[in-house]
Amino acid sequence: MALALRPNCEYCDCDLPPDDQRARICSYECTFCADCVERHLRNVCPNCGGGFTPRPIRPRTEWRPGLSVAKRPPSDKRVHLSYSLQDIQAHSERIAAIPPAQR
Ligand SMILES: [Zn+2]
Ligand SMILES: [Zn+2]
Repeated sequence: MALALRPNCEYCDCDLPPDDQRARICSYECTFCADCVERHLRNVCPNCGGGFTPRPIRPRTEWRPGLSVAKRPPSDKRVHLSYSLQDIQAHSERIAAIPPAQR
């Protein structure tokens, strides 16, 4: 299974094209921009409670047959938060101090 490469930040809804170095993902591929991860989420995924890592960039060049961003295009399905901002803030406060490996 390849990453879907979701098109937007779930928090601020900015565009995150597949080559955007600001994209961050959790292990379930919940997707946010680096700014929201640092300033609003404190490295706590609002959905699963896990930490984030930079999303790898899918190569534009087809170095191997069938594998490129053109051949395996990104998702166009925008995803939005299903929790209130107040709920997310409390969730981050509860979890942020726990290192991701111990959550
Ligand atoms: Zn954002
Ligand atoms: Zn998550």
